[in-house]
This record gives sequence, C-alpha cells and structure tokens, in this order.
Amino acid sequence: MFDPVQVRSQFPIFQQTLPKGLPVTFLDSAASAQKPQTVIDAERRVYETHYANAYRGVYRFGAQIDDELEASRDAVRMLLGAERVEEVIFTAGTTLALNMVAFGWGRKHLKAGDEILLNLMEHHANLVPWQQVAKQTGANIRYLPLTPQGELDLTRLDEFLNPRTKIVSVTAMSNVLGTLNPIRKLADRAHDMGAVLVVDAAQSVPHGIVDVVQQGIDFLAFSGHKLYGPTGVGVLYGRRDLLNRMDPIIFGGHMIEQVHLHESSWAHLPAKFEAGTIPIVQAIALKTAIDFVDGLGFDAIHAHEQDLVNYAWQELHQIPGLKVYGPPPDRRGAILSFSIARAHPEDLAQLLDRKGVFVRHGHHCTMPLHAWLEVPATVRASFGVYNTREDVDRLRDALLFAREKLR
Ligand code: PLP
Repeated sequence: MFDPVQVRSQFPIFQQTLPKGLPVTFLDSAASAQKPQTVIDAERRVYETHYANAYRGVYRFGAQIDDELEASRDAVRMLLGAERVEEVIFTAGTTLALNMVAFGWGRKHLKAGDEILLNLMEHHANLVPWQQVAKQTGANIRYLPLTPQGELDLTRLDEFLNPRTKIVSVTAMSNVLGTLNPIRKLADRAHDMGAVLVVDAAQSVPHGIVDVVQQGIDFLAFSGHKLYGPTGVGVLYGRRDLLNRMDPIIFGGHMIEQVHLHESSWAHLPAKFEAGTIPIVQAIALKTAIDFVDGLGFDAIHAHEQDLVNYAWQELHQIPGLKVYGPPPDRRGAILSFSIARAHPEDLAQLLDRKGVFVRHGHHCTMPLHAWLEVPATVRASFGVYNTREDVDRLRDALLFAREKLR
C-alpha cells in the first residue's frame, strides 16, 4: 500500500516546521524534487568511505567507484528499458543531454533545407539548442500546433512531417500544461519519414514507466534531480547505432582512444561522450534514487499522483477567476499551471509563501508556450510522491487568502 505520509517521513526536509508552526507545503517538484534520506546518505557514504576519481585507478577505492558507477548505469538501463548498458551516457542533466544530441547528431547530419519538428510546448532546453543548430546547418524548424486544450494537434501531423523532416524532438510531458504526449505514435510517424525521435523526458521519468525500446525512442534525456536524485547528474540515452554515428561535443580526457599531435580518435561507448571527470558521486547516488522509486513502484506513484491531480483540479476550480491551463486530469501528469484574474503570478507566489506553500511562478522556460497562452506568466503547482491531499487543501486555502489580499 502506498502511504504518502510514510513516504514523506523518508524526506528529512519535511521534518521541519516553518515559523508560525507552518508545515512545508512543497509544490515545486517539477523544478527539482526533494531528496530521501537514502539518497543523501548514499552521497555521504561515498565521500566518507571510498571516494576516488572514476575509471582511472586500479587501487581498491577506484575499483569500487567504477563498480558502483557501472551498477548505477545498469540501473538506468533497466529504468529506461534500454537493451545495452553502453547506451546510457551520464551527463550533467537534461539540458546538456539535449545539447549533445542537437550538436553531436544534428550538426553532423542536418543540411540546408532539412527540417526539425518541434512544437509549442517545448522547454527552452529542447528549443534553443535546435535554433542554434538550425542556424548553423541551414535546417528549418517547424512547430506542430497545439489544440485549444494544449495537446499536440495530431490531425495536422501530415502537414508538418515530410521526407525533409530529419529530427522530431518532443517532451514526453509538458512542464507547464502537464500534457502527456503520445510517444509511440510520434516515433512511428517520425520513423516512417526516416527521422529520428528525440524525447525530453525530464518531467515524465519521475512519474511513469518509460520503455525506450517499446516506445521506439531514439534519444532520450532526463535529469537526476527531478527523480529524487542528486543535482549535477542526468542521462542521455541513445540507440547504440545512432550514438556510434554521433559526434562528441566535449573533448578531453577519458573520451579518447588515441591522441596524436594533430589528430585523435574516440573511445568506445559510453566513454566517447563522458569527457573529463563525470559527476561521480551524484551518478552513484542516482542508483539510490532509482531504487527508491522502484521500491514505491511506478503504478503506485502514478495512482497517487493522479489522485492528487484530480483532487487539485476539483479544488482549484472552486476558486473564482482561476484558470488552469492544459488538458483535463486524465490526460495530464502531476502538474497544474494556472492564473487568477487580476492577480500577478509573482504576487500570488509570494503570498502563498507566507502560508508555507511553495510554488513556482513565471514562464517556466517556455516563453513561446506562454505567448500562445497569451499570458506572460503562470503559477505552477507540481506534485511528487511526498505530497498529500492536505497539501492541496493548503494550496487552495492559501490561494483564497492571496486572492482576498489582492482584491
Ligand atoms: N525539459 C523539461 C521539460 C524540463 O522541465 C526541464 C527542467 O525544468 C528541463 C528540460 C531542463 O532540465 P535541467 O535543468 O535539469 O537540465
């Protein structure tokens, strides 16, 4: 049985109370999730007992670090349903992983007139790198429109996908609208045109099962810190044959096979894409975060978060003048972005903070989406495994308080 109160007790940050005895109502997991004790302990254990650089020393600490890193890589492989461990590249996070694909794959394979298919809900991390690569190669970016409910308008796919489309890059779950995108369908359509499918899974990995093989995903990126893991580490998954045809974008130690004065050759996967000292301790502790979510079970996580979204949807709609953006709860993940008539999102966020309710405000790194929504900013409440219905109640009450103050 999934017990959010028991889950919450595993997170030291929630053991505190704020001034005036307020509990911490943390509703910003989409930006970064809190860490369970096991993850905090895992990092500490490495530093205290056998820390050393990775892939360099044969002495026992170095060997232990290498073993733990490879165990973590294998845990990521299993989390993603990947076939081979060398298809898992440790990166600094989603942003770097997407830049690696844009510049390592895109810049190598795109030519003038080719097309990259994006859409209006993409995070800047899955948009700006492609703009740069398009400028450098002469490729064109096209944006698949959204339906009024904030979902990809698949009825227009035929207009936007054609033999010139070489890359389709899409978020599996919108960090603003919560929209869940149909990855398998997009993979099939992209592959029919000979394009590769890149998936930004920063938001989806913490909430549901991913299977890169079953879903036909060619490249996938996610960040450890949104999965209850450490900051500074993330993952790029790539199909082996594609990674072998992709260039590294960061050069230096560990990623080479031979270095001569004017030429060098690259190491095999995954080292080819892991130049320099990787975030060793964070990558090792990422396994602990994966063990944590695996222990809870994705079905249970999904059911719990779905309950919270349903409940929050119902409660927020009680608030006069409040508008939630994006599709209904059964077609979204655990994120609700909204605005309240005549209330500035920053003022709302600040007033909510007074009640110990922590939400994000702003454009959430999706300026084109906000332009489409015709609002400069929204307030976003996002949920994690430790949130409860009481958190939703506190959000509702704090919003009613803020609304009164701003009248
Ligand atoms: N993509 C999406 C959908 C996100 O929500 C985020 C982070 O908010 C990112 C990419 C960037 O992730 P990171 O900052 O960990 O690189």
